[in-house]
Amino acid sequence: MASIIESGWTYLITNFSDFQLACLGSFLLHESVFFLSGLPFIYLERAGWLNKYKIQMKNNTNEAQNKCITRLLLYHFCVNLPVMIASYPVFRFMGMRSSLPLPSWKVMSTQIIFYFIVEDFIFYWGHRILHTKWLYKHVHSVHHEYATPFGLTSEYAHPAEILFLGFATIFGPAITGPHLITLWLWMVVRVLETVEAHCGYHFPWSPSNFLPLYGGSDFHDYHHRLIYTKSGNYSSTFVYMDWLFGTDSGYRKLKALKSEEEAMFKEN
Ligand SMILES: [Zn+2]
Ligand SMILES: [Zn+2]
Repeated sequence: MASIIESGWTYLITNFSDFQLACLGSFLLHESVFFLSGLPFIYLERAGWLNKYKIQMKNNTNEAQNKCITRLLLYHFCVNLPVMIASYPVFRFMGMRSSLPLPSWKVMSTQIIFYFIVEDFIFYWGHRILHTKWLYKHVHSVHHEYATPFGLTSEYAHPAEILFLGFATIFGPAITGPHLITLWLWMVVRVLETVEAHCGYHFPWSPSNFLPLYGGSDFHDYHHRLIYTKSGNYSSTFVYMDWLFGTDSGYRKLKALKSEEEAMFKEN
């Protein structure tokens, strides 16, 4: 396995420049993972399949879904791509490299766990700030246009928010200067995670059923369906920040009520 990855990587670095891989490569990888993981949830909603796992009964109209896709493509090309190009010198300066040897799994996983913790911490505070009156009205309400989220709405946001919260995503890598393959792996898991959090379905195989401290779709869907002053659940990945700062009380109450109801249902 390691040798297949290494020979694939050798092919990439002999045929493309460092800049091409870091900017265009990252962009293409992001687009592929994002749309391939997000689009199935649109079709799932339209077809009505697996409806029993849908968190909300409400469905989005085709127009609303199409608007989300066109807006995303526009922002990805006009905001994300220029940001990737502009931040390239910073990553180089901080020691990012694409040459062989590739980092060990241990190094990669330690760095990625660190990025998740850092991202979640910055995102929590940034997101709370975005829920203040002025910023919500002028910036964050765009992301909340979809009260019933579906996978692709994860990146549907005002350009200012893309820049603001995107900082949380790149801060960890920017200060550690990782290998490009680590950066790609981080981007892939982070995209899959945020698409899952917005997918609108809570399956028996959803990661939050197995991973302790992980929020996932059930946790973030609650944030979208409540009005902005009452929502709470501000974290992106984990549940402990909201628990520590008491911003998950509404969600906890609802969960307690649901499990009480389930227990009563079983008794009868
Ligand atoms: Zn929000
Ligand atoms: Zn969201």
